[in-house]
This record gives sequence, C-alpha cells and structure tokens, in this order.
Amino acid sequence: MSKLQRTEVTDWMGEKGAIRPCEACGAQQWMVPHLEDGDKDAAIQLHMIVNNQLTDTVGFTPAMCVNCGNTRLFHIDAIKAGRK
Ligand SMILES: [Zn+2]
Repeated sequence: MSKLQRTEVTDWMGEKGAIRPCEACGAQQWMVPHLEDGDKDAAIQLHMIVNNQLTDTVGFTPAMCVNCGNTRLFHIDAIKAGRK
C-alpha cells in the first residue's frame, strides 16, 4: 500500500468530522505532514511493549494547529482503512 498523501489525510479528517476548531485556542487551520519517498509510512511510530516484549508498532499522523501548535494524533491504520 502506498504512502498516505497529505490530501488523503485532510479528506479523511473532513469525512470523519475531525476538522473542528482547536480545543486550545479556537483557530480552525491545521497542518499535516507530507511524506516523501523514503520516509516511513507514518510520521510518528510508537513501539508498544508488554512484559518487556515488543508487541506491535503503531503509526500515527499528526495534525497541528497553525496558531498555537496544539497537536492531534490520528492512527494511520484507521486512515488507510478508509481509502477508496
Ligand atoms: Zn490552537
């Protein structure tokens, strides 16, 4: 599966009603990362550990308020599952 493009993330956010005013400052403009060739599939990856064993690697893409920097994280698999 190819990398998510910026417009796919913003389209998905719009479809899910996730483009709402910032809960910290009320601004309504958000920035999302654009992944280039050679980048990982997700802008942020967390390695989940249970009982000292790596169980999963979970990817997220951030959306950052352009006014105050408040950042929301969206699970990359949820966005990819919504691809058409
Ligand atoms: Zn804000």
